[in-house]
Amino acid sequence: MTDESLVADVDGVSVPTGHLIGGVWVDSPTTFESRSPLGWDDMLLANIARGDARTAAAAVGAAVEGFTTWSRYSPTERAEVLHRLADLIEANNEQIAHVECLDMGFLQESMKLRLVARGAVNFRLYADLIVEHEDRRWDAKSMDNHVIRMPAGPTAVITPWNAPFMLSTWKLAPALASGNTVIHKPAEWSPLTAALLAQLAVEAGFPAGAYNLVQGIGHEVGAALVADERLRRITFTGSVPTARLIGKSAAENIVPFTAELGGKNPLIVFADSDIAAAAKKAAWQYDDSGQVCLSGTRLLVEESIRDEFLEIFHAESDALVIGDSRDSATDVAPMAHPDHRENVDGFVQRARANGDTIVRGGNKMPGSLHYELTLIEPTSNNSEVVQNEIFGPVLTFQTFTDEAEAIELANSTQYGLSAIVYTGSRERAERLGEELRAGLVWVNTFLVRDLTAPFGGCGISGIGREGGDHALDFHADLKTVMILDNTTT
Ligand code: NAD
Repeated sequence: MTDESLVADVDGVSVPTGHLIGGVWVDSPTTFESRSPLGWDDMLLANIARGDARTAAAAVGAAVEGFTTWSRYSPTERAEVLHRLADLIEANNEQIAHVECLDMGFLQESMKLRLVARGAVNFRLYADLIVEHEDRRWDAKSMDNHVIRMPAGPTAVITPWNAPFMLSTWKLAPALASGNTVIHKPAEWSPLTAALLAQLAVEAGFPAGAYNLVQGIGHEVGAALVADERLRRITFTGSVPTARLIGKSAAENIVPFTAELGGKNPLIVFADSDIAAAAKKAAWQYDDSGQVCLSGTRLLVEESIRDEFLEIFHAESDALVIGDSRDSATDVAPMAHPDHRENVDGFVQRARANGDTIVRGGNKMPGSLHYELTLIEPTSNNSEVVQNEIFGPVLTFQTFTDEAEAIELANSTQYGLSAIVYTGSRERAERLGEELRAGLVWVNTFLVRDLTAPFGGCGISGIGREGGDHALDFHADLKTVMILDNTTT
């Protein structure tokens, strides 16, 4: 039960405002505000407990204690709890989608159909995988060899503000399935659905201390959390600068650390492709106002189809409905936070000053936190808008004359998260699949993937891989046991 003083009414949905530590909701002396990007000045949604170093230490302490119980649950027992949580997510889909829409501004309909539903799937996937996972056995030199998957220990799970609910489940599910206890630290711009998820976790029946949540500011409670030497894993999704800081703490305490970071992903269109389909998909990169790590934000188009591509691209972009995220007709949501819109605008204004051509958009929209759907043709491949992640509705447009140049441009940033290719040639698709430096390459499609496949980035886009067994291996300490076969009992 949540103490009533630690609950906010967010448009009819009760949302806990405290931290969940050892199965109990607790407060902090100070709070921070959760405001809605759908009406920044008028829509204060909740005041959320602002954790500090003591909060982090208490949560890790609870996770250490909880580990003695949760790590001894059999895979089947853990799977039962994870499936119950998935059932509860499905039963509360509408409330979660509504609260995340208010908190982050993301499209409510898309949340319901895609992201909240996927949250439940993530828990089911790892519940099933951990049960299927058989210990590997083999014989060598008359010894019985086998591998035991040991739960690693308390795990910090640090998540960003974009698609916060779904991304949290993607990281929490494999940690919990593995028998690790978690301390979830969601982003301060998106605290609300993490609180709803923790509330559902209590209802699903995790033992005390298995599932903990701390709320607060990254450089306060987050920094204290990752510096705690009792952690045995840190799994992080967010920005490159934060990953550098967390990596230092992980190195100090010799704690394995995964990082899913930003991208500056190419969307490459060849003249032999279905140009209309490619241009439509390019316009869809404005989805969620470009606040998507996997988005193809660098449009690289074969010179010979430049005009044809741009004509369709502009028509498709013009047809996107910019509006209120609660309205199912809306295609483009507002930016999640006024500070972030300022960051995005800063990139565009510096590009303008630098002589880059603003082909469309390029301004803040009045009356809401939207930003115009923007396309920039840079003066050079070294322009800041080509080389750095902007994370807004801002795409760049460059052309190439042959496949070699397309590959060179595609691989020319420090990032390497995803790449999207449109081509009518199977051979070219295979070649690009080999040559592109990215963790994920989609050809003639986007976003669809098998959740057991590896997921992650190259270069500064990340460290490690999530997805299926890759995440389970990260969260386990694999132990090889060798027994000489001369035992008598
Ligand atoms: P961020 O790095 O600012 O914050 C991420 C999380 O880290 C938040 O919870 C924050 O409170 C916490 N944090 C901040 N400072 C910390 C510190 N010193 N110690 C511990 N924790 C700290 O990132 P963001 O702005 O929330 O997220 C956007 C970024 O995330 C973009 O770069 C985006 O591309 C990336 N992202 C990547 C993926 C992926 O799968 N590769 C998915 C989504 C988002």
